[in-house]
Amino acid sequence: MPLDPQRAIADLKELRALTSDENGAQRVAWTDTWLKAREWYRAKWQELPVKQHFDSAGNNYLTLQGTSEKTLLLGSHLDSVPNGGWLDGALGMMAGLEVLRRFAEQYNGQPPITIRLVDWADEEGARFGRSLLGSSAFAGTHSIAADRVRTDRDGIRLEDALRSCGVEVDRFPEAERERTHAAAYLELHIEQGPVLERLQLPLGVVLGTKGVERHAITFHGQEAHSGSTPMNVRRDALAAAAKLALEIRPIARKHPDAVCTMGSVKTFPGIVTAVVGRCEATLDQRDLDAAVLAEMHREARDASSRFAQEEGCTVEWSRIWSIEPVPFHPTLVTFCQQAIEETAGASHSLPSGPLHDAAEVSRAGIPTVMMFVQSLGGISHNKIEDTKEEHLTLAVRAFDRLAAKTAQWIINS
Ligand SMILES: [Zn+2]
Repeated sequence: MPLDPQRAIADLKELRALTSDENGAQRVAWTDTWLKAREWYRAKWQELPVKQHFDSAGNNYLTLQGTSEKTLLLGSHLDSVPNGGWLDGALGMMAGLEVLRRFAEQYNGQPPITIRLVDWADEEGARFGRSLLGSSAFAGTHSIAADRVRTDRDGIRLEDALRSCGVEVDRFPEAERERTHAAAYLELHIEQGPVLERLQLPLGVVLGTKGVERHAITFHGQEAHSGSTPMNVRRDALAAAAKLALEIRPIARKHPDAVCTMGSVKTFPGIVTAVVGRCEATLDQRDLDAAVLAEMHREARDASSRFAQEEGCTVEWSRIWSIEPVPFHPTLVTFCQQAIEETAGASHSLPSGPLHDAAEVSRAGIPTVMMFVQSLGGISHNKIEDTKEEHLTLAVRAFDRLAAKTAQWIINS
């Protein structure tokens, strides 16, 4: 049996020992520790019959050349957030490497189709606040003009940090060439949430990544003295915002996977002796179904107008950011479900709240699916992030099955 999940787990522990400190993983993209992780990775694939190259955005590819140019792409990311966990991104890389080894051994170095493993550059966006950087260059959805002048905490520009790692921002569009023969993309990741653990299931099929509507909402009332202003004449902007903060819960609960969050509320003048004249809130709404997302957005808007009127206030909305839902490929979703059922017995289908590189690949028109493995306590982006080893083993096995099914599908297509 050439597939060895234990080897993947041993590799993950080795990487953790090399790139973590007492606060967790420190593989932040475009830093020395990240480069050190990539150097360590080099030693891992060197004995394999693969060709390595970087694209113009710093994505790192290993290619196991097949008889056909048609390519099955596997991918994840070696970078982490500061004080991150040992599995976020790294699991997908080490599982992908194991699958690559299996294909290489089974077919004596030349499978019927080409298998390629990509380590996306800067998935997390931890240093410059720009997530999915490498995969957006691949997908052609990059935003060079806006991103090049981003600075880190020390005032270093994104453009300069990338240059010191040998990456020129102006050449990002060349990364789109890498899409040429890609017939499918697969990614294994930890869930980073509590759903699978609560169902006591090790593995799940990801249906897609949720769309996001993110808005700033400002209620305008009237500042007034807290002692002299009777209750019935107040125009309290916080009261209107507070009603909305509660109303978004029933709005979200009408739909099984929808979430709505009011994450920030600021009051002005914000002193103990004044009725709030202005209240600035934020709203983040997510769902996999674009129609549901639009409906929740409309309902929250209507509710905010109603509450503003009830409190003698006015309300205005402005969009901070939005992204459409990215549903994954139905055939690959079915393969993923079968692979999980054949490996672990039962499967569960769920959308991903966080974005992943897979969303960018899918937006570029390449059939895509992701597999999730249970996260203990649903915790991620933290040093206590963990998954049971028996579940990691199942994850590598199921992911390999998914890769085999997808390769066959590409051969037959
Ligand atoms: Zn990740």
